[in-house]
Amino acid sequence: MSLLSVNEARERILSHLRPVTTETLPLVECANRVLAQDIAAADDLPLFDNSSMDGFAVRAADVVKAAAASPRGLRVVADIPAGSHPTVSLAQGEAARIMTGAQMPEGADAVVPVEDTNFDNRDAGSSAPSEVQIFRSAKPGHNIRPRGMDIRAGEVVLHRGRALIPQDLGLLAMLGIARVIVYQKPRIALFSSGDELLEVDAPLESGKIRDSNSYMLASLLEGAGADVIRLGVAKDNHASVKALLEKAVDFRADLILSSAGVSVGAFDFVKEVIESNGTMDFWRVNMRPGKPLAFGEYKNILFVGLPGNPVSAFIGFEVFVRAAIGRLGGVETAARRTVRVRCEEQIDSDGRESYLRARVREENGILSARLTGHQGSGNLHSLVQANALLIIPAGVKCVPAGEEVNAWLL
Ligand code: AMP
Ligand code: MG
Repeated sequence: MSLLSVNEARERILSHLRPVTTETLPLVECANRVLAQDIAAADDLPLFDNSSMDGFAVRAADVVKAAAASPRGLRVVADIPAGSHPTVSLAQGEAARIMTGAQMPEGADAVVPVEDTNFDNRDAGSSAPSEVQIFRSAKPGHNIRPRGMDIRAGEVVLHRGRALIPQDLGLLAMLGIARVIVYQKPRIALFSSGDELLEVDAPLESGKIRDSNSYMLASLLEGAGADVIRLGVAKDNHASVKALLEKAVDFRADLILSSAGVSVGAFDFVKEVIESNGTMDFWRVNMRPGKPLAFGEYKNILFVGLPGNPVSAFIGFEVFVRAAIGRLGGVETAARRTVRVRCEEQIDSDGRESYLRARVREENGILSARLTGHQGSGNLHSLVQANALLIIPAGVKCVPAGEEVNAWLL
């Protein structure tokens, strides 16, 4: 077994993964889903020239000399609420009352806000005056949002691979796109393994512990956009593992994820079951925590086995599985954003690429970090207290206090 770098291991996993198929969903179901098409605008946005203020649509040339001391009187020939289609065309000396978002009438080329007139009245139901005094000049285009100012018809506004955020859904609605082609959610079959594991609500027994990994990993998977089937706990025997793997096949999983038993020897029965219908390798990855990683295929479904210690399982997920779910789900960039943080204390490492639990705080725009408690890979509490993982590169054994390192904010 050779020692793989973190990057090599991740690239090897990703090289086996292709995006799942797509589906067409109504817009209301598209939050957080990943676009499988480029979205081009069919219309200009705004759709028509419209007023950005409650005021009076005017011909700028009519109000060139308007001022508080010398108001310009205009005849009000129309009242244009939002949603109406103006039929007037303004002639010289004419104005139309207009509301925010309402379509500009022909002939008008500026809007004077109500507060710059003698009719500073926005009360609902008030009727338009027959004449208005304008207290301020306006240049052509003033307070008008012209058609196509934001988006031109034909422009590509959202690209394939984007996980849709709320403002995207708003934009899609603006563009009249009611149905969207998105990637299906990757289907992930998840199990824990080990004779020592109890269900969370089972009575404790001497020597046993509760299965915590499956709760944590299921939540991580769902957060990353996957559909999860929880297969439960595989006992350390052939029949139990085989039964769970077959359930994953029935579920038509895109990936099988397990935790524990990935050190050589410990997982022989899983290796045996998988190899009866596929392949399995143990990798040693130059990282801390969580050096061992199992990787294989069962009946053409990819299999990833994370270490059993809860913190190692969490970090293995962040380092390898998040990217894998992203690749399956068609996401353009699944990686967590990296920030630079200053170490408040000296950090010793062992030369492996290390992911350390830390609490990052911000003061005057500067991020600094301190480790949370001891970094044993079974100590989930220090991960709960952390809000970041500091990444100490391979080959580095000491980061002096005051130096900066990369971090993922959790
Ligand atoms: P293993 O990789 O099977 O040697 O397990 C490594 C450590 O992780 C052992 O202390 C296991 O008891 C623990 N462990 C394994 N699976 C889980 C799990 N699902 N939840 C919590 N701890 C686990
Ligand atoms: Mg075990």
